[in-house]
Amino acid sequence: MPTRKRFVAGNWKMNTTLAEAKALGAAVAKGVPSDSPVAVAVCPPFPWLLPVGEAIKGSAVALGAQDVHSEKKGAFTGEVSPAMLIECGCKYVIIGHSERRHILGESDSAINQKLHTALDEGLHVILCMGETLAERDRSLQERVFQRQVYAACAGLTDEQFGRLIIAYEPVWAIGTGKVATPEQAQEAHAFVRGKLRQLYGEKIADALPIIYGGSVTPDNTAGLMNQPDVDGALVGGASLKADSFLAIVKAA
Ligand code: PGA
Repeated sequence: MPTRKRFVAGNWKMNTTLAEAKALGAAVAKGVPSDSPVAVAVCPPFPWLLPVGEAIKGSAVALGAQDVHSEKKGAFTGEVSPAMLIECGCKYVIIGHSERRHILGESDSAINQKLHTALDEGLHVILCMGETLAERDRSLQERVFQRQVYAACAGLTDEQFGRLIIAYEPVWAIGTGKVATPEQAQEAHAFVRGKLRQLYGEKIADALPIIYGGSVTPDNTAGLMNQPDVDGALVGGASLKADSFLAIVKAA
């Protein structure tokens, strides 16, 4: 039985004032014990990375960003490079969140480029994937996962796979209060792991954490985490309150 460490990350999205971000970071840092069996990260908005990094300094909580540019440096007004994130103290970056795919039009190939640059520069990547409601209604989810895994992971080295986490986030479950059932999550995670096994081999597939995201709350965490292929959670709304985020970490 492979032993994958549990991982829970909070995606704060475009929320919090500076004061709220610092307080939230400090409260999460205080609540996660140094010997936590669950790896924990918080992903604040770009301008709050440094102050939140300060607030969680010395704790077991790691810092992550919500996006990154696909080039290492240069004339890309408004963009942020992987090296900048690392210098701000980030260990993780979220790539391919459905809000970026569907609201901002990020393509699979753009996501693959970002993934390569971020991993080349030394970051750990939380790669998001998942189907829309229309795709699930037409039973197309497995085709979507296959396309997303194949496109995103093309060309990665074994070492880079060691710094990759996949987040299965059904678009219909994000911010809607409609969580996937543990069985739906398990089915999706097992399919993705099976695809990874087929494409990249047993070792990579067994070691790679696949976490679930979409309306995760303290009440539904344990049921999801009981599934053999669910290795943690990417938490949006419930990560904005330290109590509920810490309860999710505990339940994981
Ligand atoms: P949610 O968001 O927990 O608010 O549904 C999850 C996400 O978008 O990562």
